[in-house]
Amino acid sequence: MTTEFKYKKLKQIYNPVAAKIREHTFYLDRIPSDPCLRLGSLQTDLLIQRIGQGCKNIEERGIFVTRNFGRFLNLIEIQHEEFAVAMLRYLTVRRYITRSNTSGTSRWLQHPEVPMWDLNLFPINSPHGYVNWTDPLWLPSQWDIVETCGTCGGTGTITETVSDGEGSRTETRTCGTCGGRLEYTQIINTQWQRLLPLVTYPETPTPEMVEDAEEQVIYRLPLTEKFSSSNESAQVIRTSSPLINKMHQTGEQLEYLHKLHQSEIEKLHGGYLYRADFQIASFRTIMIEFTNLGGSVGWFFVRRPEFYFPRLPLCWITVFTFALLPPLWIALFVFLWETSVKIFPFLVE
Ligand SMILES: [Zn+2]
Repeated sequence: MTTEFKYKKLKQIYNPVAAKIREHTFYLDRIPSDPCLRLGSLQTDLLIQRIGQGCKNIEERGIFVTRNFGRFLNLIEIQHEEFAVAMLRYLTVRRYITRSNTSGTSRWLQHPEVPMWDLNLFPINSPHGYVNWTDPLWLPSQWDIVETCGTCGGTGTITETVSDGEGSRTETRTCGTCGGRLEYTQIINTQWQRLLPLVTYPETPTPEMVEDAEEQVIYRLPLTEKFSSSNESAQVIRTSSPLINKMHQTGEQLEYLHKLHQSEIEKLHGGYLYRADFQIASFRTIMIEFTNLGGSVGWFFVRRPEFYFPRLPLCWITVFTFALLPPLWIALFVFLWETSVKIFPFLVE
């Protein structure tokens, strides 16, 4: 499957779920201005640290960087804005078997079927939170596959007909890979996949970019844990905001919807739902505007410091070509990072 096709398939499930979340969290726009819930101002040193980290992330991608772009930096404007986000979070798990590299052996032939979902034999090692992660487990030799060597047919020698100028003759040589049989280690791969349908206020055209951005979780309702429905009640921050009652109502509505979505998400990921919850959180974004670059804008989604450069028209392609930004732009930001300590105190109010 191509990346684009996979993405379309994902969006067929993601978008209707996100639309439902939007419908039930109509009060999201009131969170950033609610005196009990809002995050408030951001410290200058924290801001510098986050922008610095964003630049470092780009550096670590190993892209060649040049430095002489200071002339573009005559005027930079920095703003930050508070966002509210409501999200359903899903973590699924699937298992599949692969074989490791082979070696020659004199063991008896065997092809043991691995009962990979026997969690007593092969316990599951669950991650914290919601992550994409593949966890390989190399099985001990009793689970090895031992097969007849396909190259020599199990004889250990290869007979070949060799042609030269005077005719053809038969040559026999030892098979390079085996003693007649080959053994393979079996590996159980446990693949954890997450899906985080979310909506934000203010709206963002590419919600994937704000995954993991939350700074303050206001409301969180566990829905599923260890494959089963969760009995835990919602965790709520201590506040007297009247919006909390609305969040409890939303939690109940989405708990019902969650049951309808579960099988679709399991089908999309080819696995079982291990964990799910619903949460409402807030985070800040930092925007840097380069006025000398025709008003080009870089964004940070806080707690996940990355640069993001929307270029109109905005679409998901923008996100996936993120790593292919022109080197000129990247150089600019590294320059900014190196000089940030000197210039930021003058730019940030
Ligand atoms: Zn062989």
